[in-house]
Amino acid sequence: MKKEGVLFDLDNTLYGYKLPHQKALNVVYSFLKKEIQISKIKFIRLYDLSKQEIKRELSGTASAHNRILYFQRLIEKTHNTVHPHIILKLYNLYWNTFLKNMKLDRGVLETLKRIHKDKIKIAIVSDLTTNIQLKKIKKLGLTRYIDFLVTSEEAGSEKPHSIMFLLALNKMRLKPEATLFVGDDLSKDIAGSNAVGIESVLISRKKNKKLSGEDYKKANHVIKDIKEVLKILNE
Ligand SMILES: [Mg+2]
Repeated sequence: MKKEGVLFDLDNTLYGYKLPHQKALNVVYSFLKKEIQISKIKFIRLYDLSKQEIKRELSGTASAHNRILYFQRLIEKTHNTVHPHIILKLYNLYWNTFLKNMKLDRGVLETLKRIHKDKIKIAIVSDLTTNIQLKKIKKLGLTRYIDFLVTSEEAGSEKPHSIMFLLALNKMRLKPEATLFVGDDLSKDIAGSNAVGIESVLISRKKNKKLSGEDYKKANHVIKDIKEVLKILNE
């Protein structure tokens, strides 16, 4: 069936998450080091611990990724009290640095341009808060190519919950058979789209973790370069 829409995951599908995240954490640490005596190792340990706690307590919701909660928990550990100005400062430093250091992966812009030009609708379906994902879309220069955004904050559940996929289809006014989903995560993106009958495309770049032969069978297509989406659309 001719495809009329493509759904994309955002993080690690259209841009690499690791580098901007590491730079952002470094800037956060440099600021905190001036406030209190804390080693980098201790800071990373406390950040990871705070993140794990929030993820465990809020698993399956967009708030599980909210950096403001990680930093609040971290400061409550280091200062033994809430410090609004420090927490807000860390949060703003983190995201300002993150957004400044994001870079689209190779071939993403030309692929989205082509799809948009061919009058195929584009949606981004992503597990995080809407505020941050809107800022990323804007900063990555994707605004004019993206027709719709669905976040887990808005849907109330995260991928692979069907609501994420169905909400996107509903916004695009398309049936699952008329769409493709492109993402990097087997258990979220691929399992979730397969469950609602959307043709799934796993993007597996070299830097991503190794997949087994069995894993490859789970997706309808496995690609190494995002431009291969155009070939699939023309099949
Ligand atoms: Mg992803």
